[in-house]
Amino acid sequence: MSADKDIDGWFAERGITLPDSRARARAALEEVGLTSSRKVRISEAKLPRAEQVLAERFYRVCAASECQQVARASGKEALLVEPRSHCEHCGGSNNRRAEVAFLETCQRRGVRRVVVVGGSPAVREELENKLGGRIELRMVDGTERRTAGKAQSDLEWGDLVLVWGATELHHKVSSHYTQPGTPHRHKVVHVARRGVAALLEAGISHLER
Ligand SMILES: [Zn+2]
Repeated sequence: MSADKDIDGWFAERGITLPDSRARARAALEEVGLTSSRKVRISEAKLPRAEQVLAERFYRVCAASECQQVARASGKEALLVEPRSHCEHCGGSNNRRAEVAFLETCQRRGVRRVVVVGGSPAVREELENKLGGRIELRMVDGTERRTAGKAQSDLEWGDLVLVWGATELHHKVSSHYTQPGTPHRHKVVHVARRGVAALLEAGISHLER
C-alpha cells in the first residue's frame, strides 16, 4: 500500500492554515483532479504535482501590506499564510519585516534620504543591500573622524538621521549630530537599542509621531 498524507496537515506545513486559504488551495487541487471533496488524505506520489499546482497558482503571503502588494503584482492569486514565516516575500523575518515597514513609512512620509550614523560595517552593508535600491542612504562610520562641516552637510542632506548609540559610535562623531540648538534637531533620532530591526523601528516611530 502506498503511503498517504493528511491533506490539511500537508497544507499546514506550508502555512496554509486559515479556513479560506485552505478551501482555495483544496479547490485548486480538486480542479486538476488531484483530490476530490470527499477525500481527507492524499497519496504521497501526488504531492510533487500538488506542490507544483499550488506554486503556479498562488503567491503565499503574510498580511503585511508591502507583502500583499508584491503578491498582487506577481500575477498569481494571493494566498494568506499563517504563521508568516511562510510568506514568500518577507519569510517572517524581523529584520526583513522592519525593512519592509520602514520603506513603507518613508514612502508615506516623503522621506527619501536617510543618514545612519554608527553600526558595524556588516550591518551597513546589509542596510545598503536591503534599502539602498528604494531610498538614498548615507552611512557614517562611527569610528572614524567626521568633521563638523561634513556632519552639517549630512544633517542638511538627510530627511531622517538615525544616530545609533548602541553600536560602534564614538562620542566625538555622534555629538556633531546630537548637539542641542541645531536647526535639524527634528530629523535626528537617537537609537539606544542594538539590531537592525530596533534601528528601523525607532525610525518608524519617529516618523509616525
Ligand atoms: Zn510577508
